[in-house]
Amino acid sequence: MTDMAAERQLPTLAELTWDQAAGRACVWCKKLLDRGAVPAGVIRERDGAHVLDTEVWAGPCCAGGRA
Ligand SMILES: [Zn+2]
Repeated sequence: MTDMAAERQLPTLAELTWDQAAGRACVWCKKLLDRGAVPAGVIRERDGAHVLDTEVWAGPCCAGGRA
């Protein structure tokens, strides 16, 4: 089985809400996560010498219904 969540294009850090960047909301639909959240990947960005890698999460809403 392929992991649909991992293959979706992640938004940029500038597009994330505070909750999304904090891992509290779905990275794709902004719904606050309750249970069944799965890792959606890591947004890799850097600002000069500063690494801004941010782990983001998806809920069942966008993770193909798999918990
Ligand atoms: Zn979602």
